[in-house]
Amino acid sequence: MPGFRFGRGLVAILALALIAAAALAVWFVSLEAGKRRALAALDDELHVLARTVEGEIERFRYLPAVIARDRRILEVLASPDPRAIARANAYLEAVRTDSGADELYVMKPDGVTIAASNHAEPTSFVGENYQYRPYFTDALARGEGRYYAVGATTGIPGYFLASAIRENGRVVGVAIVKVDMRKIEETWSDARAIVAVTDADGVVFLTGHAPWKYRPLQALSEEVLSDLARTRKYGNVDLAVASPIFPDAGRLPETARVDGEDARRLVLQVGIEPDGWRLLGLASLAPIRANSLLLALLTALAGLLIAGAGLYMRQRRQLTRARLNAHGELERRVVERTAELNRQVEDRRRAEAELRQAQESLIQAAKLAALGRMSAAIVHEVSQPLAAMENTLASTGLLASRGDAAAVADKVRSARDLVRRIQRTVKLLKSFARNEPVRLEVVDVDKAMAVAVELAAARTTEQGAAVRLRTSSSPAMVLANATRLEQVILNLVVNALDAVQQRTDGAVELWSEHDGERVRLFVRDNGIGIPEHLRDRIAEPFFTTKLTGEGLGLGLSISRAILGEFGGEMDFETRAEGGCTFRIELPAVGENRQREAAE
Ligand code: ADP
Repeated sequence: MPGFRFGRGLVAILALALIAAAALAVWFVSLEAGKRRALAALDDELHVLARTVEGEIERFRYLPAVIARDRRILEVLASPDPRAIARANAYLEAVRTDSGADELYVMKPDGVTIAASNHAEPTSFVGENYQYRPYFTDALARGEGRYYAVGATTGIPGYFLASAIRENGRVVGVAIVKVDMRKIEETWSDARAIVAVTDADGVVFLTGHAPWKYRPLQALSEEVLSDLARTRKYGNVDLAVASPIFPDAGRLPETARVDGEDARRLVLQVGIEPDGWRLLGLASLAPIRANSLLLALLTALAGLLIAGAGLYMRQRRQLTRARLNAHGELERRVVERTAELNRQVEDRRRAEAELRQAQESLIQAAKLAALGRMSAAIVHEVSQPLAAMENTLASTGLLASRGDAAAVADKVRSARDLVRRIQRTVKLLKSFARNEPVRLEVVDVDKAMAVAVELAAARTTEQGAAVRLRTSSSPAMVLANATRLEQVILNLVVNALDAVQQRTDGAVELWSEHDGERVRLFVRDNGIGIPEHLRDRIAEPFFTTKLTGEGLGLGLSISRAILGEFGGEMDFETRAEGGCTFRIELPAVGENRQREAAE
């Protein structure tokens, strides 16, 4: 869906813009805060340093005045003989050692040094004239003088503290203490912040940053330059050629880039009294910038993580929703399918029930039909001999009243025949209904056929028919019950004799065949045959075409039931030349089985 994608793209762009804005804001805010903090720290640091500088000078502030009052100093100024000079020198040297001052010396009012703590050194001040130094003139004029300068004799810079020496209210000389400030400077060179002390004219004279030494912050005026040259304040350094440190700005900038450094530095200054000095501090912005950048990056990272997490949660939600939908869809389909299957099962069950009902009604109808036929047959079979017996008994009664004993006896025999006939019918019906299991044995088919032929022999002879049994060369064995199988074969032989009754050349033939698997028995006659339309009916119980009253129509149906017990079956074929051939088929018994049975 394009709208959906566009929505997602827009959200992503908005989220990125938001993250970038947040990172930028963090960067600016932290940078400003960092600057403020750095300025405050620098301010503190500069104040401490300023106090250190002041303290270093302050330590020696009263020393010139103390020297000025010493007897040895006053003596040397009153009468500068070698012994007095030696005493003064020794005194100054001793004080130097005790106080830690750089040098101590005494000048006559004409500016010539008469005694000095370094009198024994090659750079001795003794004999030197320093009347051009402002500290000397100031001390003469106002009683005190102080001045920073590079030593004219030693080349070592120092702070000069001067005090007028008075004798009876008259100035007789000047006592000077030189303080070496380089020790302070040394500690600054290691500091992270650049620290520099400038004089009232803005010339750097103390700094941990060597390239700035004796350079003005801004360009110096001609007047100042000539003043500095006159007082030889910075010795041989030519400040006219020294390049200003901040040449562009009329006043001190807030931030400055120092000597090609990448990051700018914060610039701050504090005053050091009483000479109008300024202590300058430059703190690097690099760590603050790095810190701000780190914070901004962290913010961006956090933003991206949150956005990522949000996206992840959103996708998970969508996925879960999709899964739930899919699950729901699946469940719905399962429910539909189940309902469909239930419907189909219900339909099938109904169809089966209907079919079963139809079959049951068919079976019922068939049963009723069979029952009807059977009842009719039973009624026929039993009522006919009963009616005959009624007649016979009636005539027997007549004959008995006439006293014809022989005739009565004859009639009684007839009546007994009729009773036997009814008994036979009932007996056959009983055997038809019997359902007891039979004991199976291995039966030689040829033998069974021979017994059946033998049983029918009397009838055969009476009828004058020809019954021929063709025995096979190898005996065919089946698993059956000999008596019952004989009964079945006999029934077929009797039926065949019935069928050939009308013929003078009636012939019945019996033989068997077997192929190892199946054994077949054949009973063939040349009788009246069976019309095609009766094919399915002849084996029905009580179906008979025999009008003589001999046939019960139970033979074939009983035979079929018996063969069923042996796993066999029976059918027949009509012959073109007249008559038919009945065939019985039974499973053959293997040799192993035969041996077992024999044992
Ligand atoms: P029954 O012999 O008592 O009639 P069966 O069940 O043995 O009863 O035979 C039924 C009918 O089948 C016979 O009535 C007859 O019509 C017919 N039938 C059986 N065997 C033969 C045969 N070999 N030739 C002609 N008809 C036969």
